[in-house]
Amino acid sequence: MSQWKLIRSSSWEGPIPQADPAGRWLHLVIDAESSANVLSAAVLEDLDKQLDRVSEFSNVDALIISSAKNGHFIAGADVNAIGSADNVDHVIEACRSAQDLFGRLSNLSIPSIAVIQGTCLGGGLELSLGCTARIAVQDPRTRIGLPEVNLGIIPGFGGTVRMTRLLGLRGALGWILPASRLPAQIAHRKGVVDASVPVEGFRALSLQMIEAMVSDGFRKVNAARKKRRKGWISYFLDETSVGRTIVCRQALKTVRARTLGLMPAPERAIEVARLSAHRPEKEALLEEARAVSRLATGPVCRNLVAIFQDSERVRRGVSGQPDGVWPEPRTLVVLGAGVMGSGVATMAIEKSIPTRLRDISEEAIDQGLKKIGKAIDTRRKKRRITTYQQAEILSRLSHGKELVGLERCGGVLEAVVERLDVKRSVLAEIAPLLAQDAIFATNTSALSVTAIQKDSPVADRVVGLHFFNPVPKMPLVEVIPGEFTAPEAVGIALSLARKLGKYPVIVKDSPGFLVNRLLLPYLDAASRLLLKGLSGSHIDQVARTYGLPMGPFRLMDEVGLDIGVEVQETLHCAFGDRAASSPILMKMVEKGWLGKKSGIGFYQHSGNSSTWNRDLEPMVQATASTLPATQIISSLLDPMIDEAARCLEEEVVADAGLLDLAMVMGTGYPPHLGGPLRAADAEGLPAIEERLRAAHENGAARSPCKLLVDLALINGRFHSRT
Ligand code: NAD
Repeated sequence: MSQWKLIRSSSWEGPIPQADPAGRWLHLVIDAESSANVLSAAVLEDLDKQLDRVSEFSNVDALIISSAKNGHFIAGADVNAIGSADNVDHVIEACRSAQDLFGRLSNLSIPSIAVIQGTCLGGGLELSLGCTARIAVQDPRTRIGLPEVNLGIIPGFGGTVRMTRLLGLRGALGWILPASRLPAQIAHRKGVVDASVPVEGFRALSLQMIEAMVSDGFRKVNAARKKRRKGWISYFLDETSVGRTIVCRQALKTVRARTLGLMPAPERAIEVARLSAHRPEKEALLEEARAVSRLATGPVCRNLVAIFQDSERVRRGVSGQPDGVWPEPRTLVVLGAGVMGSGVATMAIEKSIPTRLRDISEEAIDQGLKKIGKAIDTRRKKRRITTYQQAEILSRLSHGKELVGLERCGGVLEAVVERLDVKRSVLAEIAPLLAQDAIFATNTSALSVTAIQKDSPVADRVVGLHFFNPVPKMPLVEVIPGEFTAPEAVGIALSLARKLGKYPVIVKDSPGFLVNRLLLPYLDAASRLLLKGLSGSHIDQVARTYGLPMGPFRLMDEVGLDIGVEVQETLHCAFGDRAASSPILMKMVEKGWLGKKSGIGFYQHSGNSSTWNRDLEPMVQATASTLPATQIISSLLDPMIDEAARCLEEEVVADAGLLDLAMVMGTGYPPHLGGPLRAADAEGLPAIEERLRAAHENGAARSPCKLLVDLALINGRFHSRT
């Protein structure tokens, strides 16, 4: 059965138009077997066959391409096929045939117009770019973009070339490099679509527009495109060699500042777009396909695709996970208006959840409200939301010192101070007032969920929901069922996390959960290198060059050294000497050097600038020494790999893929390396095991765990090869 429907029709009322042999419009409707219309090889083959049939219809005025799926136009190419690409020639062939196929759309006997409602990403936009014109529906679900660089490739179904020809070099790079997904009106303003129509009656409105386009031979559409690129600046930057060099140099500089040269795809996109701006289309398309073939068969693309696939697994729900639905439109009550509480409340009201923010301190509420107001206002300033939407979002927030609305709430999230007695007394206060089916989620970073819920009359509804700081930016949430938590409560917590736009990973209720447990050995290793006399700012620099968002000392200053010491102590109690507390950290906390919040830690912080804290020198008794960067990296990361292997052994997390995903989303571990376990696999486990063994023989408390030793022995991997 074809996944495209070709229907001649005179009107357009529903997703699938009524057939009418006398109709003047030919509709090509995609209704693929996949839920979100993915351009698999079979779907592309079907499209080819349907385009062959277009010439059979006489007296039709245009081909209208749309989707039968509500909220989805076309989600993109088949990511699984991209991730499994291993033959350069096959990739070139696949790209060339899709480029030709989409190119046919503007060379038919009649014009083709894509009417885009819902997600139109990657291959979906590339298909639309092949059409004569595009109309986007102002549906809140409409998102238009080319996210390919996030998967380590460039748009390869003609998108890089056709976007450059449509918008010029600057315009195209502005879409391809940030991989943004923009709504209909912005896509229209930027010239990617030729018109946008309101959702109400969009089909009839689109038909009227198409009629106008056809009757004037697309003159107005073409004039508007030309106008957008008018002026001597556009001419200079797009049409002259010097101008193109300036644009590309600037783009490369911006890209490298972000990727440190570790991501090849954006750099290839700049090269291909530059070529597309002045070479014949055929030549540029071939270069585009060649660039994709090299990128798709490389390790960066494979790792990024693997992370994407795991993130999709988490977003949709891993099989066997408890079911649950956040009970809309009920309220979320957030306890604690501090850093985390205000962050979660911001996300909640943005995602349409009515929220009550409660704190015992009036001052904390004021501070929290200021933070929330500022975050929402920033979105308005960036034109992501309108003034009306800003007011609508803020109207979902109520606040106060009183505990009200608990009997009607869907759940409570506590983000009060990290003390077991306080968390337990908050739960005791809430328990008799809590709605019968509501959950009580705790944002504890290291306390045992079981210890918090023990003896509570609502213990079965208590669940850990560990957000990361800053909440709006960090995509990971650890979901921690305690010993007494009912599966339904876990299901509702997963659903709430997803509703907040987060990626929830279930982890075992064990010390440090997953991410903090893996982060600590890395931070401890950094302190030990410092004590050996290595320069701390150099260690930070080496970690940055590896691709981490910040070095270990900067990270400790951000988090707060007092918090670091607390988590270290928890882990030390649980795991003994291999998680011993770092002496330098304790000394610094005793001096009141807590990091950024006290203005001094490993760095001295003043406004936006910071310099290494020279007063640390007397605490570091060793004379200055140095190590090659690779050795610094292995000293920092080997203990993390060993701890990760222990987490797999102890089933703290279900599998290696979820562990890698959690580290990428919770710490910013370089996604192009695919997470710490994939990076270890790529290096080879025997080398890592040997280094850990040698360090242990030289006095380190940690020795490689059984899983690591066993895998190293057979030259095995954490991830089975796909
Ligand atoms: P914070 O000190 O910024 O805020 C805590 C707030 O809780 C304060 O405003 C305090 O007045 C309020 N509070 C105390 N008792 C209360 C009660 N009975 N009812 C209502 N409010 C009460 O702390 P934070 O950094 O937001 O951390 C909150 C929780 O989140 C802690 O458990 C912490 O471990 C965890 N956490 C923090 C981070 C982080 O980076 N800050 C990250 C993950 C998890």
